[in-house]
Amino acid sequence: MDKVNILGVKVDMVTIDEAADLIMRFMEEDKFHSVFTPNSEIIMRAYRDGEFASLLNGADLLTADGIGVVYASRILKKPLKERAAGFDIAKKVLGKMSASEHSLFLFGGKPGVAEKAAENLAKDYPGLKIAGMRNGYFKDDEVSEIVREINESGADMIFVCLGAPKQEQWIDQNKASLTNIRVAMGIGGSLDVFAGTAERAPEFFCKTGLEWFYRLCKEPWRAKRMADLPKFALTVLKNGKKYEQE
Ligand code: UDP
Repeated sequence: MDKVNILGVKVDMVTIDEAADLIMRFMEEDKFHSVFTPNSEIIMRAYRDGEFASLLNGADLLTADGIGVVYASRILKKPLKERAAGFDIAKKVLGKMSASEHSLFLFGGKPGVAEKAAENLAKDYPGLKIAGMRNGYFKDDEVSEIVREINESGADMIFVCLGAPKQEQWIDQNKASLTNIRVAMGIGGSLDVFAGTAERAPEFFCKTGLEWFYRLCKEPWRAKRMADLPKFALTVLKNGKKYEQE
């Protein structure tokens, strides 16, 4: 698969449809696969933390979540065809899963969010099998119990929605123990959107690359995290070529 190396993070050059097809192929293979969807904030974190960069690069599929990553690929003259956000890929995967025997575990969000998401998904995707769910707030000594719950549910796909980098680290630390899981997707706040507790930016903002602006207006506390966006653009302009030629 063709990749573009953005500041040391090797992003797969796939569209939303291609990513969903690939994930369904992973489901047929008798082994664990991880899918992460880094945005520019996460790539900046990986740029500063080599260990986290290796963790991301160890994924079976890494897609570009965020228009910043798409712009970076253009600067590097290896343009991504589109933004392949975790939420959009998840929706395609849900459609495909509902016509299959596979079953899903929803992990993350505040208490009640996964339950509400499951209720809505059952309506929107008739035939979808939801094997279990659990909120994303836990102590370290509860992890083995959570892993057991996931394994006993029989689910072979899991959405891990703990926010980044927690979800990527959780998936990486527990992949060997998730004996029945074929695909684990780290997809941030998606359960909140499925539950209706958070709204996705209207189509206009997503299409025009202004989703960050919409989120900033709705959730001003993100401003500090978003300060990395201009730093990301400058770093790609300054140092990006070096990585892409590696
Ligand atoms: N979350 C969680 N456990 C935690 C911290 C966060 O389940 O310990 C959830 C939180 O409730 C929210 C999601 O993780 O549903 C993070 O959403 P956000 O939009 O911040 O994700 P990101 O922007 O990192 O993708």
